This record gives sequence, structure tokens and C-alpha cells, in this order.
Amino acid sequence: MIAEQNNETLSHISDQYARVFKDSTTQAAPRTFRSPGRINLIGEHTDYNHGFVLPASVDKAVYFVIAPREDDQVLLHAVDLNEDYQFSLNDLSKPSQTWAVYQLSIIEQIHKKGLKIKGFQAAFGGDVPLGAGLSSSAALECCLLFALNEVFELGLDRFEIVKMAQKAENEYVGVQCGIMDQFASTFGQEASVIRLDCRSLDYAYFPFPMEEYRLVLCDTQVKHSLADSAYNTRRQECEQGVATLREFDPNIASLRDVSPELVAQHRDKLGEAVYMRCKYITEEIKRVEEGCQDLVDGDLKSFGRKMYETHQGLQHEYLVSCPELDFLVDQTLSMPEVLGARMMGGGFGGCTINLVAVNHIEAFEAKMKDAYRQAFNIDLPCYKVRITEGTNEVM
Ligand code: ADP
Ligand code: MG
Repeated sequence: MIAEQNNETLSHISDQYARVFKDSTTQAAPRTFRSPGRINLIGEHTDYNHGFVLPASVDKAVYFVIAPREDDQVLLHAVDLNEDYQFSLNDLSKPSQTWAVYQLSIIEQIHKKGLKIKGFQAAFGGDVPLGAGLSSSAALECCLLFALNEVFELGLDRFEIVKMAQKAENEYVGVQCGIMDQFASTFGQEASVIRLDCRSLDYAYFPFPMEEYRLVLCDTQVKHSLADSAYNTRRQECEQGVATLREFDPNIASLRDVSPELVAQHRDKLGEAVYMRCKYITEEIKRVEEGCQDLVDGDLKSFGRKMYETHQGLQHEYLVSCPELDFLVDQTLSMPEVLGARMMGGGFGGCTINLVAVNHIEAFEAKMKDAYRQAFNIDLPCYKVRITEGTNEVM
């Protein structure tokens, strides 16, 4: 039994499974699997620079209630949307339901690995907000693959599941995500963050106590169109920085190999824009490592200050923030109950992540909602999250 499943959500999905498949000839009893959404505490835009990230899995999850069939048919019911989709394992053409791309992408990876499954029927849904930056897509992919691995005894370990789920999103869905989302959803642990080395994929857990402080996400509800073009430009600028710095040290393969001091030393040669980008990245990679030391020391105040530093860097040096995100972070600066706040994710919209004293959370949310409405005339959804264990079977 796990502590953090949302029983109401789960029993609703089970009920819907029973309703939708009541006439099914399938004999097998359904099993239930859970994959959580994820947050990233610190380490933003460091992944493609081969640095560190610090994600964790949270108490909002996708659930699959699933049973194997004797034929080659896959019958899916999306509980939250009340939509169905059926396909044959032998026909993986793009589906008419957009959400089914995630399931098909997983089947395709299973085929590509040369693994054999039969058809199955499943009802799925959950409480990870869609498109809000908690990576509901990764939760969906990891949950189905983990479930199929158990139901059909495919023999995959968690690491293989993560890599296949990432490839599924890259190849079939067509989103060039890194590995962090699937990794966090699959490897998360209760009250711990994961320091993931995006170069070696080595990882380590650090304690993140949840007794006195909670994490609250504030969703700006905006997504500025700059996001994609700026992402590509930033990647190019980082590559340019590496190319320039390699002239001084041929061992440099990525900004991971560069210290903030080296960046400062070659400021003129880098040019102001590339210098600013490299400064942020090299400092951020260092910040993740120092933040982990804060957690070992039990110093959440110091950790929170680093969240603010990250935001400053993203706002003024990496230039991927936006007025809505900056506003939300600025609001917290005068709130002693908030230890840290920053934009989370690629930028130009999405959520801020806030480290807030437990007994001030309701007041915090009320103040933030009020201020955001006054400034932007937008309702501000807030999500309280606890760090809980990663993907598992619900018994
Ligand atoms: P994010 O991963 O940031 O939440 P994405 O756009 O990558 O946002 O993935 C969201 C998509 O995943 C949704 O549009 C939907 O197709 C699918 N999805 C996620 N969770 C569910 C769910 N509970 N029910 C149906 N579809 C879902
Ligand atoms: Mg996604």
C-alpha cells in the first residue's frame, strides 16, 4: 500500500474501468499502476549543457487500470475526457485522438525492442494538470510502459523503462525532451530530490523534508510564442560558448566542463550575449551541487535563496522569463513565509515553484491569486505538491 495515491481519483478510474469493460470477455482481473508528475527544484536549462538537474516526483499522478486480452486489440478509455480509442497492435498509424499518441508511442518502442505483448484494455486518468509543467505526458508514458512490463513480464528494469519512454516521446510523439521527466516519474522517492547528472545519468537522492515547508506551483496560464525560437537560440549560444572556450582548453566538451571563473576570464572573447548565457549556465550547474549540500546540512533557507538566484539568472542573464513569471516571483520577496521562488521549466510562461511554510499556505495562495488577478486579470491556479515515491503498482 502506498501513502500518496489519490483514493478518490483512483476509485473513479476503477469504476469507469468496470463500466466501460463490463461486457468484455477478458477473464483477467485488472491491475492498477501509478506514475507521478514531476517538479524540478533547481537546475534549469542545464540538461542540454550536460549539467545537473534536481527533480522530484509529486503526489499528482496518472493511473492505469489495465488487463491483458487474448487478441491483438488495444482498447483505451480516457476517463478524464470520457473518450475511447481502439487499435490493433499491428497498426500503429497516427491516431485520431491526440492523447492516444502517447500509448501508441510506447507500443512502438516495445516493437522496436523486439518484445512481445498481447492486446490489453485499460482505463486511465489522473490528477496531473495537463500542460502545466508537471509533465503529464511523461507520467502517461511511464505508467503504461511500467504496467505492460509487469502484466506481460517483459523483464525491463526501471532504467530501460525511462530510456524507452523518452525515446517514445522523441520519436513517435515528436517532442525532443531530455530524460529528466521520465527519470523523475520512474525513480522518484518519498521526501527526496534526485540529483541527476545529465551527462553520465548517474543519480543520487538528497533529503527534502516536507514537515515544515511545502512546494506550491503557481500557474501563470500564459505561454508566450517566443518559447520555441528562444530555446533554439539559447542552445546555439551555449554551443558557441563551448566552441570559443575550446580554443583555450580542448578538453571542454560542454559547459559542464567550464567554471564560472573561466567564463569571466574570457568575457571579451565570448561577446556580451554569449557571455551572459554561459555565466548563467555555469553558475546554475554549480548551484545544483551547492543546493544538494544545503539539503545534506538541512538548510532549506540557503536552498531557498538559491531558487531566487536561479530566477535572477533566468530573468536577467539567460533571458527566458516573462513579466507574469517575474511578477509572481517578485510578489514573494516581501513574504517571510516563502523561502524561495523561481520560474520552473523552459520559460516564457508555465509555473513558478515556491517553497512555502506549511501553516501559511492558504494565506499565500490567497495573496498570490489576488495580486495576479489585479495585475493581469487572470485567475491563478495553484497546486500544492508533496514529494512522493515514483512509479509503482497500487495494491
Ligand atoms: P505536459 O507533459 O507538460 O503536461 P504535454 O503537452 O507534453 O504537457 O502533454 C499533455 C498531453 O498528454 C495532453 O494534451 C493529453 O494528450 C495527454 N494527457 C496527459 N494526461 C492525460 C490524462 N489524464 N488523460 C488524457 N490525456 C492525458
Ligand atoms: Mg510533456
